[in-house]
Amino acid sequence: MEAVERAAALREYAEETGSCTRCTLAKGRTQVVFGSGSPNAELMFVGEAPGFHEDQQGLPFVGQAGKLLERLLEGIGLTRGDVYIANVLKCRPPGNRDPVPDEIAACEPHLFRQIELIQPTMVATLGNFATKLLSGRPAGITRVHGYEQEVTLGTRTVLLYPLYHPAAALYTPSMLKVLEEDFARIPELLARTNGAPAEAQEQPEAELAVEEPAVQLGLF
Ligand code: URA
Repeated sequence: MEAVERAAALREYAEETGSCTRCTLAKGRTQVVFGSGSPNAELMFVGEAPGFHEDQQGLPFVGQAGKLLERLLEGIGLTRGDVYIANVLKCRPPGNRDPVPDEIAACEPHLFRQIELIQPTMVATLGNFATKLLSGRPAGITRVHGYEQEVTLGTRTVLLYPLYHPAAALYTPSMLKVLEEDFARIPELLARTNGAPAEAQEQPEAELAVEEPAVQLGLF
């Protein structure tokens, strides 16, 4: 699919997702927070779930954590418009509690479809939930932050880059320093993926059609 077609398909999918009732979070949300940024971004960020402000505005990372994310992006010469920002969950959990496994499983197809349509070469996961989901491994963010790894998501291989969640770094100066250091490596890693985009092996159409979705279950 061409970039313009993928962008149109992403818009259409966002519209469809606006009425999602796959889990009980649908009942308490103001609106679905699908994601925002460039539909053709090379670099995608995946956070945890919308908070109060995101739920109100319908955009990811617009609160304090979002301000920090913007500042970190600015530090490496990027803006929100250069990247794509999404979350594991598209709806706000009540009181900003942690996502539960059922919600993650229900929402997962939305994230995988986003990745499939945007076709990033690099996905930076913010915090534990996105990291465990997309790495398919139980290792926590404290152990794996700053360590890039190639993972196959659906039909594509991307460079996964786990980072501390900006909300956690907001109130912990030592964590903020580590997040800044890890962030500083993004341009170099991105250049690496741009230079040699790691495509998953070509598969015949028929095989793709019956392939199991890349669902990582039982991780939490
Ligand atoms: N934290 C997240 O993980 N996502 C948001 O969109 C906002 C805060």
